[in-house]
Parts: sequence; C-alpha cells; structure tokens
Amino acid sequence: MTANPTRVLVLNSGSSSVKYQLLDMAESRRLAVGLVERIGEETSRLVHTPLATGGARRVHEGPMADHDAALKAVAAELAADGLGLDSPQLAAIGHRVVHGGLKFTEPTVIDEVVLKEIERLVPVAPLHNPANITGIRTAQALRPDLPQIAVFDTAFHTTMPEYASRYAIDVATADAHRIRRYGFHGTSHAYVSRRTARLLGKDPSEVNVIVLHLGNGASASAVAGGRCVDTSMGLTPLEGLVMGTRSGDIDPAVTFHLKRVAGMSADEIDELLNKRSGLVGLCGDNDMREIRRRIDEGDKAAALAFDIYIHRLKKYLGAYTAVLGRVDAVAFTAGVGENAAPVRAAAMAGLEGLGMAVDADRNAVRSDEPRLISPEGARVAVAVVPTDEELEIAQQTYALVTA
Ligand code: ADP
Repeated sequence: MTANPTRVLVLNSGSSSVKYQLLDMAESRRLAVGLVERIGEETSRLVHTPLATGGARRVHEGPMADHDAALKAVAAELAADGLGLDSPQLAAIGHRVVHGGLKFTEPTVIDEVVLKEIERLVPVAPLHNPANITGIRTAQALRPDLPQIAVFDTAFHTTMPEYASRYAIDVATADAHRIRRYGFHGTSHAYVSRRTARLLGKDPSEVNVIVLHLGNGASASAVAGGRCVDTSMGLTPLEGLVMGTRSGDIDPAVTFHLKRVAGMSADEIDELLNKRSGLVGLCGDNDMREIRRRIDEGDKAAALAFDIYIHRLKKYLGAYTAVLGRVDAVAFTAGVGENAAPVRAAAMAGLEGLGMAVDADRNAVRSDEPRLISPEGARVAVAVVPTDEELEIAQQTYALVTA
C-alpha cells in the first residue's frame, strides 16, 4: 500500500517571473523554495534553495525563453534534490491567481471551464491573469494527471457587503463593465487575520481585525469575525494606501484633468499612477529603508513622502475602526509592516483615543515570529504578523484535494 501523497507545489507566476515552493503538508515543512526572474530575456536567473537536503542555494543564469523553459528548469532542480515533479508523493499544484472576479469565492480545481473564466477576467487584470494562465497551462502540460488548484487573491474579499464593494456611479455602466471593488492581497489578509486571532488565543470568528499589508504594493482590510467587510484596493490594485510606486486614492478628476490639460493618453496616465507615483513619485525612492536613511540625513522630500504615507494609513485606521465598530487587533504585515518599526510607531502615534498604541521596546524587537507590540493591557492589540501567502495557498490546495 502506498501512502497518500502529501506534497504540494505552489506556483506564483508573474509576467516575467515564477516564484515556487514545495511543501510537505503532513510534516508541515518546506522542502524547497525558489524564484525564476527575467523569463524571456538573455539574463534569466533561477535561484533554488533545497531546504529538505540542507544543501547550499543554487543559482543558474542564462536565457530561459518562456514559462515552459522556466518550469522545466525548476523541475530539474527539484529532481536533483530527489523531489521531482514526477514523484507519486506530489498531491497537487496550487496556483496563485490574482483576479477571480465574483465567481471564484473559494479555491477551485482548474479545468477548461475555469481557465476560460480566468481568461474572461483578463480585461480587469491585464498585468496578472495572463501570466497566471501561462503558469497553469505549463504546469498542466508537465503533470496532466495531477489536480491543479487556483487560489484567488480576490476570493477573501468576496464577502464584502455590496455597500462596500459598489462604487457610487451609474449602476448600468458599472454592471456592463464589471466595475466594482474587488480587493487584492486576499490570501495574505486571510492568513494574517486568522494568525492574529491565534496570537490572541481566540477563534477568528470572535475577533475584529484591521490588517495592514504594507509591501511594495499595500492594502488594508477590515475583517469582522473572520470575514472581510472592507478593503482598500478596488477594481485594480491602484486604489487605497500610498504604495511604493502607486498613488492609491486620488480624486478621479485628476485623470481627465491630465488628459485635457496635459494631453496625456489613458496609457500614459495609467503608467504615471501605477509606476511613477506613491513613494517613488514623491521622493524618487520606494524602498522604506532608503527613505528612512534619507530622513535621518535631513532630506525634506523623503520626510514629506513618509508623512503622506503615514497620513493615509491613519485615515484607513480611523475609517476601518468606524466600519468595524469594535477593533480587537491591528496587524502589520509584509516587507514594510514586518520590518519598519518607524512606520508602525508613526502610524499609531496619537491614536490613543482609538485605544491604539505601540510599546517602544516591543516595537523595536526584530523577529520572524508573530508578536504583540502594544503596551500591556491595551484595549486594541497591535501585532506584527509575518505573512505567508505560499503556506496559505498550499493549505487551501491540500484541504481541497484531501476533502
Ligand atoms: P512586494 O511583495 O509587494 O513586492 P514586500 O512585501 O516584499 O513587497 O515588501 C517590499 C518592501 O519592503 C521594500 O520595497 C521595502 O520598502 C520594504 N522593506 C523590506 N525590508 C525592510 C526593512 N528592513 N526596513 C524597512 N523596509 C523594508
């Protein structure tokens, strides 16, 4: 008798990159992690870390023409560690899919009908869904017999009430073009809100949490009893917080003003707001470490960019406190949220009236573990909770194939 397969491969396929992790769900451990970058260029690069064997990180440089070549290179690396994709121990492949529209509220076994639906959503996720589809098709070709599961970034937010998800614009126009607030980073918000409840020794159904996912992309969510009731990203990941290169909230009139007055095209405005705005637009840097260093040297543009970033965060903290009515915890996560103590301190400064504060010593601790940074006995628990989107995708994938 052979044991049931317990391994899950997680693939996060971007337009020119693939991030992957192989996990063993029975043993709750990561067997291998890696990344292929610059697919389609002469300078493609694969970085593979074989955690199971404890071997050294391996780096391969050289052209990989497409996702097919990239995934075959990943498969070869895994095979070299005795973890080949042909292994009977592989239970499924879990794919991150950015946009699942309204249809996909749960992880879904991928078949042709599901792929068609993900394709139908390309107009609302032109940068992401095509790459996700390519990754899925390539993995299917490699292991046609294996369940391939899609885990959607938007799924966690499909519980938002209509008064939070609908924009106040003409209903017929909005519906004709599927314009509404979908939200993104859902896998992270789901994982972090649940992990925060556990940190408090509570069931997710018992707590209201504001999650601040602050990476290069950034979003906030209000999670009531385990269900998302509001989130800051909208039709696309442009809305909401100030991000590394994205503006977040602006008056929509800025766009037609730019068209009429500056003669910019839709594509140029898209590029401006997505790539040349946010922190990079304000001060030329989008890395919070660099911004803090410049502030320490007295740089005024960096200081203003930081203040604008923090001001927006505070507005969302206030708004989501009102939306939730009662807040049990605020959780900081992702690159900035997990590492930038000054951002956490500044975002919480002056919010004692909302029951929110950070303890300076606790905030200064560096750790990979979830931890509380609020003072003892605070009304609202403020926490740093490292996100783990790959683990969340693996768990959802494994739960579906073993159900
Ligand atoms: P994404 O997944 O959106 O690309 P991450 O969650 O990895 O982003 O976050 C990347 C960002 O985290 C960097 O741009 C940088 O601003 C910030 N960051 C990473 N490490 C630190 C650190 N030690 N201190 C401050 N900010 C950091």
